Amino acid sequence: MDSVKNLPIAVIGAGPIGLAAAAHLLERGLEPVIFEAGPTAGAAIEQWRHIRLFSPWRFNLDAASLRLLDASGWEAPRPTALPYGGELIDNYLAPLAALPAIGSRLQTGARVVAVTRAGLDKTHVRDRDTTPFVVRVEHADGEIRDHTAAAVIDASGTWSTRNPLGTSGLPAIGENAAAERISSPLPDVVGRDRAAFARRRVLVVGAGHSAANTLINLADLAKEEPGTTILWAVRGASAEKVYGGGDADGLPARGQLGSRLRRLVEAGTIELHTGFGISTLKSLDTHVSVEAADGRTLDADVVVPCTGFRPDLDMLRELRLNLDPAIEAPTRLGPLIDPEFHSCGTVPPHGARLLAHPEKDFYIVGMKSYGRAPTFLLATGYEQVRSVAAALAGDQTAADTVQLELPETGVCSTDAGASCDVPVTNTTASSEDAGCCAAPEPVLVGFPTGLTHGRSGAA
Ligand SMILES: Cc1cc2nc3c(=O)[nH]c(=O)nc-3n(C[C@H](O)[C@H](O)[C@H](O)COP(=O)(O)OP(=O)(O)OC[C@H]3O[C@@H](n4cnc5c(N)ncnc54)[C@H](O)[C@@H]3O)c2cc1C
Repeated sequence: MDSVKNLPIAVIGAGPIGLAAAAHLLERGLEPVIFEAGPTAGAAIEQWRHIRLFSPWRFNLDAASLRLLDASGWEAPRPTALPYGGELIDNYLAPLAALPAIGSRLQTGARVVAVTRAGLDKTHVRDRDTTPFVVRVEHADGEIRDHTAAAVIDASGTWSTRNPLGTSGLPAIGENAAAERISSPLPDVVGRDRAAFARRRVLVVGAGHSAANTLINLADLAKEEPGTTILWAVRGASAEKVYGGGDADGLPARGQLGSRLRRLVEAGTIELHTGFGISTLKSLDTHVSVEAADGRTLDADVVVPCTGFRPDLDMLRELRLNLDPAIEAPTRLGPLIDPEFHSCGTVPPHGARLLAHPEKDFYIVGMKSYGRAPTFLLATGYEQVRSVAAALAGDQTAADTVQLELPETGVCSTDAGASCDVPVTNTTASSEDAGCCAAPEPVLVGFPTGLTHGRSGAA
């Protein structure tokens, strides 16, 4: 980085991982500039502020960020409490972003639309590693500006690019035209989005934790707002895996949520449609007609897409990336988190070496580093950015010595339920090559997002 070392390091996204990256860079004496598309830090979490996290505070805080906050007299939350998304923002991300050290380096309303090397397109190899990056940013006033950077850390998450409703990875025919009838992936149906759901026919699509939560909240809404109709479409042949093991479930929180959902389906409050792979959406004047590949149709006023997320790779088109062809995570990380084979998402803690791309000094971290896998944990991301900051500072030893108190999985197997509930043990790992499924004596911390791309049951 010699020729460009006076340039800042661009961090894309001011979610928990982007802010943590900035805190670690500052500790290393490096200069971050953070570009955040939304109006405030934590803009993606703002969309699900009504949802409770499944991991307690102690796993949701980054060490370098805490050191900054502690110095400001910040009051730490109770480590064992499970915060809501809103509390994660109000009690942690907002105070962190307001610190002068971070706030002075944070640009909000600044959406990164492309990253490249100055004067070089992807095909040019000469002097590539020593040429500054150019980060093209669309600012809130509509102006587009190019910013040069010594390195780039992409922590932009996946929230803005949900998976389509269609079954083949493509939008269903008519899906884009029906956008007005499709809600955000985790609407607050009893709170701020209530008016859009009360006394309407609502179709929830998907078979993970988000679908379960939304369905249960809709059932609460239906009690207060008669005429609210709840339809639930899953692609698999049954919803058994969403229900979990009920009272006998080894993971009590999953059992409770699942049992409640099962009762609501059995009571007819929720109308379940299995094997419903969506092919077409027809927008009509009064509603949308959702058609399955086998010809069945469901009429709805609003559709809730709980189908998971995928990374936005368009803005990285001019960079040389090494991504797993299936998961779209860095190549060596992909197989460790592939939802086809892993019902849980935790992997051995890993850092810069595993996250590296052929494009030197460029890293994808946080939720986006997991590509299409739904099982990312904040604690994993905090360790990623500690290691990446060390690598960018030239401290390869610290970058390679991965240390983490990670919520490690005790149920990491190829045949466990589709839910990604995460038991924890405290482990201190020292190698990126450690195997999966190593944790003894799991302790439940709760639910992950567990979207599994709309897969469910015996699909
Ligand atoms: C409902 C839900 C519950 C979860 N619960 C937990 C939990 O209990 N425990 C846990 O460990 N993990 C949990 N996760 C998973 C994960 O930790 C969170 O998704 C977390 O927010 C990921 O942090 P991030 O910083 O990587 O991404 P995000 O929080 O998504 O932040 C990315 C930021 O980048 C911004 N951005 C996006 N595109 C651009 C762009 N082009 N230019 C500039 N800025 C951009 C966004 O506005 C956003 O502010 C949960 C996820 C969900 C969806």
